[in-house]
Amino acid sequence: MNCIYCKNCVGIDRYEFLVETNRKIICKECSVEKRAVGYMNFDHKTAPSLVMVPSNAKETIRILERANRRAR
Ligand SMILES: [Zn+2]
Repeated sequence: MNCIYCKNCVGIDRYEFLVETNRKIICKECSVEKRAVGYMNFDHKTAPSLVMVPSNAKETIRILERANRRAR
């Protein structure tokens, strides 16, 4: 689970995310994709899911931040 460019470990969480989304194994430092923000979605109480949101989706992020606060 090492980055294909710098050979650094990308971490198990990122590795699984990249595999699930059919992306190349590239660490955060080497990635040229737009930064995305991950949120835990607590709609399903027993199995929170990670929601990835592009960092330019300001309105979506605002809504998710409110939902996130309520969940804690
Ligand atoms: Zn790298």
